[in-house]
Amino acid sequence: MRTLLVEDDPLLGDGIRAGLKQAGYAVDWARDGQTAKVSLETGEYALLVLDLGLPKLSGMDLLKWLRTKGDRIPVLVLTARDTVADRVAGLDAGADDYLIKPFDLDELIARLRALSRRSTGQAAPLLQHGNIELDPAARQVRKDSQNIDLSAREFTLLQELLLQAGRVLSREQLEERLYGWGEEVESNSVEVHIHHLRKKLGSSLIRTIRGVGYVIDKP
Ligand code: CA
Repeated sequence: MRTLLVEDDPLLGDGIRAGLKQAGYAVDWARDGQTAKVSLETGEYALLVLDLGLPKLSGMDLLKWLRTKGDRIPVLVLTARDTVADRVAGLDAGADDYLIKPFDLDELIARLRALSRRSTGQAAPLLQHGNIELDPAARQVRKDSQNIDLSAREFTLLQELLLQAGRVLSREQLEERLYGWGEEVESNSVEVHIHHLRKKLGSSLIRTIRGVGYVIDKP
């Protein structure tokens, strides 16, 4: 999941980025509202984690701008202010969920999972496809009820393809979902991960569409 984190506190931002990365998210970290706005205009994100008190452009103004232009990206707001008025204002401006600082990183990740589940229309927490089952919370994949060992990137790749079953994703789109800013992308890494996924899960699951990308057909 490519996620934009907007947080001006260096310590907190660093901690959140590390935690999300460990949980398999590709994280871009913007430290002010203006940078975040440019990123949202140019990049494709599945989730937005947004601090409200930001330099240059406030989180609330950024959120209003997003929703006014019809962007429906799931937004989780982080705020230090615990007043009912602030929470109501944030939700009215289009936030999908709320966390008040200080918060537990595990809770943040659990809420992001719930948000992305809702936004992709996944009512059940498990993704199923034939004899393959992916559990986003436990980060486990089973084939015929046997646990299959996947690397973090293989897991993310499989999750993205399953979430968008029936849709062809290009190598560039998959790279965007696998890597955050400043992370080096090896030139053939998507091909290598797909190769490993096929070895572990069977060669017919992921289809290559020559010159276009990869797809997992709808079950
Ligand atoms: Ca702040």
